Amino acid sequence: MLDNLFDVVIAGAGLAGTAMAAVLGRQGWRVALVDPYRECRPTFKAEKIEPDQAALFRQLSLLGGILPHAARIESVAEGYRGRILRTRTIEQYGMRYEDMVNALRAQIPATVTQLEARVEGVETSDTTQRVRLGDTTLSSRLFVLASGTGGALHRNLGLERQMLREAHSLCSSFDVQRDDDAAFCCHPDDYEAFMAAWMAGKAFYTARDMYGAPPP
Ligand SMILES: Cc1cc2nc3c(=O)[nH]c(=O)nc-3n(C[C@H](O)[C@H](O)[C@H](O)COP(=O)(O)OP(=O)(O)OC[C@H]3O[C@@H](n4cnc5c(N)ncnc54)[C@H](O)[C@@H]3O)c2cc1C
Repeated sequence: MLDNLFDVVIAGAGLAGTAMAAVLGRQGWRVALVDPYRECRPTFKAEKIEPDQAALFRQLSLLGGILPHAARIESVAEGYRGRILRTRTIEQYGMRYEDMVNALRAQIPATVTQLEARVEGVETSDTTQRVRLGDTTLSSRLFVLASGTGGALHRNLGLERQMLREAHSLCSSFDVQRDDDAAFCCHPDDYEAFMAAWMAGKAFYTARDMYGAPPP
């Protein structure tokens, strides 16, 4: 057992656990981050960073490491019946979730212990948390559950999901490509001209699935 080695043990290296490990590690806490996968695998969720989230990443000094993997959205054009009504300046970024998480993982200081393992159980108490990973048990002052929504670990800790409404939302995803093969993110003037042509039915996008293959 790695007894009392850590101030904090974090289960799950998604966006939440990874950002927390990076920030606490930089502050000098003894942190262990546990996830079965060394790299975040391709997954469909959270494919953009909103302005308030960008501000938070900046405040945590994590934004710089993410930006090389992100596409900047600088303006949003609102149109109606072939006319652009207004164009708003905005700080927004588009990127795949796994790229975002992996860019955050790259910012975790070497002082953080990263373990490729699955947390199988936790025994909590007022002073010490015992975190079981197969044959090993980690011991820490604080345990952070950041393993996503639901699962055996939540049940083990007595946490239950409260279902507000079944089948609440439906998601689909696709990339878009201009039919004239020009770059999609282009100069604002060109973009406005393209949007105007699109709304007038004179230019087209083709939807592609998220890994690049055109739909049948
Ligand atoms: C389709 C979709 C679109 C979304 N769009 C947005 C958006 O635009 N903006 C936004 O802010 N949010 C969005 N969300 C929500 C966002 O994706 C989640 O809030 C976010 O991913 C949660 O991050 P997390 O780190 O808590 O969990 P996760 O990303 O789920 O990470 C959990 C990690 O825990 C690991 N793990 C699991 N079990 C164990 C275990 N027993 N031991 C150790 N590790 C374990 C997993 O391997 C994984 O790496 C979207 C979600 C979906 C599904």
